[in-house]
Amino acid sequence: MVTPLTVDAAARPAPAFLGGGAKRLLIDGAWTAPVSGAAFETFDPATGLALATVAAAGPEDVDRAVAAARRAFEAPSWADITPYRRGRVLLGIADVIEAHAEELAVLDSLDMGGPLWLTRWLVDHSVEVFRHYAGWPTKIYGQTAPSDPSAFHYTLRQPLGVVGAITAWNGPVLQLAWKLGPALATGNTVVLKPAEWSPLSALRIGELLLTTDLPPGVVNILTGDGGVTGEALTHHAGVDKISFTGSLPVGKRILEVSARDLKRVTLELGGKSPTIVFDDADLAAAARGAVAGFAQGSGEGCVAGTRIFVQESVHERFRELLLQEMKAYTLGDPFHPDTRMGPLAAPRHYERVLSYLDVAREEGGTLTTVGEPGNGLYMPPTLIENVGPDTRVVREEIFGPVAALMTFTDTADAIAQGNDTVYGLAASVWTSSLERAHRTARGLRAGTVWINTYAEMTAGTVPFGGFKQSGLGREHGVEVLDAYTETKTVMVRL
Ligand code: NAD
Repeated sequence: MVTPLTVDAAARPAPAFLGGGAKRLLIDGAWTAPVSGAAFETFDPATGLALATVAAAGPEDVDRAVAAARRAFEAPSWADITPYRRGRVLLGIADVIEAHAEELAVLDSLDMGGPLWLTRWLVDHSVEVFRHYAGWPTKIYGQTAPSDPSAFHYTLRQPLGVVGAITAWNGPVLQLAWKLGPALATGNTVVLKPAEWSPLSALRIGELLLTTDLPPGVVNILTGDGGVTGEALTHHAGVDKISFTGSLPVGKRILEVSARDLKRVTLELGGKSPTIVFDDADLAAAARGAVAGFAQGSGEGCVAGTRIFVQESVHERFRELLLQEMKAYTLGDPFHPDTRMGPLAAPRHYERVLSYLDVAREEGGTLTTVGEPGNGLYMPPTLIENVGPDTRVVREEIFGPVAALMTFTDTADAIAQGNDTVYGLAASVWTSSLERAHRTARGLRAGTVWINTYAEMTAGTVPFGGFKQSGLGREHGVEVLDAYTETKTVMVRL
């Protein structure tokens, strides 16, 4: 067991929200204790100290929340609201989150160890996401279809009903915004289950939502264990859709359970994304991008570029630049302004990431790190070399700042190796050749391909999601409307 004690616990920020006793569940616009009385603690990974006690929702609480969401879905205050007004409700949510942005960023840094510069960005981005979705309600058009003169055929885009939204621990406010934004813009209601390791910002946002014009029951928040609360939500016959962000095994489980009553499902899962560096690239920029790709946010990102492929002719030079860049990644207290990487999110996760370094050694890999793991849950950027395409460290998502460095010969080889994975979430391509850039982007089987940049996100304008086992469906873009609405055909005999 790792002892996570590296920072001065007494000097850490202590938002008022952390006081005031055990956190409860938000059901039908009111805070309520779980029927069973069960609770769990959430911890600060930098100090190992408990931050708050949080309710653990059981199946009875899921019943209550789903019933509240159903009532709210059918209530005139939500079902009959004009699109203009629905847009204003979303703008109100954006405003209230923006007004409490620093507090929310601090809560996320405390809860999952992300450096404050990163959690600030995630909250600011989420505000823009809500503003983006505030524009949608007035633009969800159906179509008229060709018909004979004595008939009229048209389509309506209608909400699905109750959406169960289940999120991962690594980007708490962002994932909440990515799910609530489109679900509410299209007229659905939501039961949100945030991740066990970082539930606090969602609960604080629950308090903030009560100060907006959102009718009671439109958003309900249930904290709890995935195997209990998440399972109950996925099994519940009153839930029309599950929108899930998390790991591949749990995504498969959700799809399996949802098949029983054919719930709609969106899955945003893991990745093993390739970073492809051609010999004509700006190698310094590519090295910066590659290290950011796997080490930013301690590598706890779904789009992490953890397989780096460099063209053989520039391998040595690029490797030097990579190691130089890795040294710039200072580890430390998430609240220190110089910190690039905070601790990993939890002891169990740290031990899992650490175990992959042993796996790499057993598989004959050579490891280069720019520091020693330990002294808390800190993991320096680590490069694995001399491993083949069939090793576990090249095939499995590690979810820490660990990447494999490999070489390729030409464009076709880069595409083939880039695609040699069950995942397909993202990729980056570094080159000064337009032809290579677009040919490679077209050939890669990934939901997002960045060219000469990495992990840039827009606040909703472009679709995001995975090919292959990185997911199902898309968040954002025009595509998101398909994920949160049903299309109804109406035929009229005149
Ligand atoms: P996880 O799958 O363990 O948990 C995700 C959520 O699912 C949590 O809220 C958890 O409580 C819940 N859950 C667990 N078991 C469940 C079950 N049986 N039924 C219903 N819900 C259940 O994932 P994690 O460790 O929290 O997050 C890391 C993973 O998330 C990584 O694989 C990462 O790549 C992925 N991720 C993907 C995206 C994306 O947009 N594609 C974004 C962030 C993270």
